Amino acid sequence: MKVLKFGGTSVGSAQNINRVISIVEELSSNHQIICVVSAVGGITDQLQQTGQLAQLGDTSYLDILADIEKKHFQLLDELIPVNSYQVKTALEEKLKHLKSLLSGIYLINELSPKTLDKLLSFGEQLSSFIISETLIVRNLDASLKNTQDLILTDENFIKAHVFIRESNENITNYFRSSKHKITILPGFVARSHNGNSTTLGRGGSDYTAALVAAALKSKELEIWTDVSGMYTANPKLVKQAYPIEQINYQEAMELSHFGAKVLYPPSIQPVLELKIPIVIKNTLQPQDKGTYISSNAYQSGQSATGISNIDNIALLTLQGSGMVGIPGFSKRLFEQLALDKINVILITQASSEHSICIAIDQTDIAKAESGINHMFSYEIEQKKLNPVLVENDLAIIALVGSNMKHLQGMSGKMFGALGRNNINIVAIAQGSSEINISAVIDQKDVKKGLNTLHERFFEGNHKQVNLFIAGVGNVGEKLIAQIRQQRKYLKEKLKLNLRIIGVSNSRKMYFNSDGIDPKTWKEGLQNGENASLEGFYDRAVELNLRNSVFVDVTASAAVAQQYEHYLKESIAVVACNKIACSAALENYQKLKNYSLKYNAPFLFETNVGAGLPIIDTLQNLISSGDKIVSIQAVLSGSLNFVFNNFTNETKFHDIVKQAQEQGFTEPDPRIDLSGVDVARKILILARESGLAMNLKDIKNNSFLTDKNNASDTVDDFYRTLLEDEQHFQSLYASAKAKQQQLKYVATLTENEASVGLQEIPVGHPFYNLKGSDNIVMFYTARYPEQPLIVKGAGAGADVTASGLFADIIRIGNN
Ligand code: ADP
Ligand code: ASP
Ligand code: MG
Repeated sequence: MKVLKFGGTSVGSAQNINRVISIVEELSSNHQIICVVSAVGGITDQLQQTGQLAQLGDTSYLDILADIEKKHFQLLDELIPVNSYQVKTALEEKLKHLKSLLSGIYLINELSPKTLDKLLSFGEQLSSFIISETLIVRNLDASLKNTQDLILTDENFIKAHVFIRESNENITNYFRSSKHKITILPGFVARSHNGNSTTLGRGGSDYTAALVAAALKSKELEIWTDVSGMYTANPKLVKQAYPIEQINYQEAMELSHFGAKVLYPPSIQPVLELKIPIVIKNTLQPQDKGTYISSNAYQSGQSATGISNIDNIALLTLQGSGMVGIPGFSKRLFEQLALDKINVILITQASSEHSICIAIDQTDIAKAESGINHMFSYEIEQKKLNPVLVENDLAIIALVGSNMKHLQGMSGKMFGALGRNNINIVAIAQGSSEINISAVIDQKDVKKGLNTLHERFFEGNHKQVNLFIAGVGNVGEKLIAQIRQQRKYLKEKLKLNLRIIGVSNSRKMYFNSDGIDPKTWKEGLQNGENASLEGFYDRAVELNLRNSVFVDVTASAAVAQQYEHYLKESIAVVACNKIACSAALENYQKLKNYSLKYNAPFLFETNVGAGLPIIDTLQNLISSGDKIVSIQAVLSGSLNFVFNNFTNETKFHDIVKQAQEQGFTEPDPRIDLSGVDVARKILILARESGLAMNLKDIKNNSFLTDKNNASDTVDDFYRTLLEDEQHFQSLYASAKAKQQQLKYVATLTENEASVGLQEIPVGHPFYNLKGSDNIVMFYTARYPEQPLIVKGAGAGADVTASGLFADIIRIGNN
């Protein structure tokens, strides 16, 4: 004999019911089958709605009722195309009863728990009727038995308690005499001694099946649902979750108690005592293995077995000096809650006994608050206790596993991972069995929290990094191309899954929370929504994805102003935009502090020397205890290009133009030629060396003429370059006469920094600097004479993109 239970989705359409029938038919060739069915998916909710509307005198309950009727008739027509008069009439009869019950509720404006149970019981009665008739029409040896004749309960409506002994007797007696190969039973429904309909609690069809399996000492209980087993986390919220092959009763109970809806928690109790295994299978994919729940602890090798969540939680805190050392305090509190029939989901108490915290379902807040305040009214009046404090919009996430009790540091890992992702932990509880660690967090953080923990405990060091890229011009486009090219390698070798979630240019922005395809992002962006800096930020916050990184590939001051907002949300910032680090010192310091405070990396390696590891080298020197004596550097790829190509046979104006056209200068070449760009770079190095400097503190020995410097527009600037050609030729001639090279040099000593054009003699490391290369010489306490030199291509879209990429990977590997 086998007991099978099919859930709401499994019986939710004719197609799925046909799947159910083939599963049952196949098994019935070797076994007697008892098949417990749920209501058609969504019907129990709809019945509840009709009841509530009717009670309020709202006639729109009739629309929902019409929909319920339509769904069931449609099922019948699809399953039994030529249905007999009797079957149709019988269905009509049941629906007529439902209608008159609702009109009763409508007329007297009352929906008591007793009536609600009667109402809800229609769902399972209707589905079981249609399924059994279908089986019979298809010539299978099937019959329908009303579970209400078998399972007896008290009158604790909505979630009635089962009288196990009597129900067992009824079940065994019935099946002793029933000779049918297949028996269909409606789940969830039962009856009291007074003959009133009762129900076993939402999701209770699982429990019905477990009761029947236990009464008949069945060898196995099969729960057929819409997922392939009990997953490591709710698969609807965690994409990477996977079915747990084997799990013991305690773990399954803990996971289901803490929200794994796939199994109704009370269902484990009846089968556990008899050691009847539960198998969870997928009706839609019956070939999948599913999950095997038994008493044998199976060592999966994982430190944890699963993670679950309960939403819509409220936390009640009772505190005050009156609590310390007074015995019976908790007793009174819990008695009151029991009296009010409030289910306590989690308890924590500080060892000082100064406060006690309990988590309850949000719908119970009003009842709990007034009950507790009433119970302790004397103590509250005497100021020994504060009125109960209520916090809502919370949720619980729980990490479960029997292996956890043998392992140290599990809670450290759990809370560390949550903390790094800015998930605020409101309360913590760990059961003494040590197979469950629970945290109360904000409701809005549930998805992120589950995914963070899943990544930490179930994905073998794989890490997902979620990118929001602002600016997809030359460099941004290259960055996306590099990500696309390296994806596979990163996944396989570094276990990093880089996903682009948002992209924006100044006109449009485009998001995909499942990851933007790096092949087709341009089309997405073209058809995207209108861009706004706030909108981009809002979306990154709203999506609330773990390991989020904002990448600034613009040169915009307005974008740079956004960094602090991102950092405050623990979203890392990677920027090639220099403005934030070279603007006011307080701003730079603030961002650095936020980065520390909110545990969000702020990386800007490409601000100096594009992809060259200059800032990283400087930071490594300092953090390893070295001291910077001086830095000498050629930091402008643009100026290097200009002076490497400028001779007495060319015009300075033409070379600058050429540099601009080839993308070696900023869009406004004055930023490069005036030395401002280099001054910003040496300023950043100065700040990274620990000096509190501003741009005005950098001495700028400009090589331009006053006329050049006074130009208002770029065109004007070019005109003055032509007019002052002689000035530039004389700079060239002077160096040439000494057989020296012109280089634009930045210098930093212990307390001074300057930038300017210098004549460099043969043999100096700067002399042979080619093209747009950069060079930085660090003279430090450890490198006093022979400097540490970093040299290489210091400009260009490709190397800048690769520098950004390196910063992103650094965050991923963190
Ligand atoms: P049924 O109607 O078949 O009883 P339920 O909706 O009650 O189905 O339970 C199955 C659902 O449980 C899944 O679709 C999934 O969304 C949810 N669920 C939550 N946590 C888990 C988990 N850890 N493993 C599997 N499913 C889960
Ligand atoms: N139909 C009921 C519900 O939706 C019982 C069940 O499906 O298990 O809660
Ligand atoms: Mg269910």
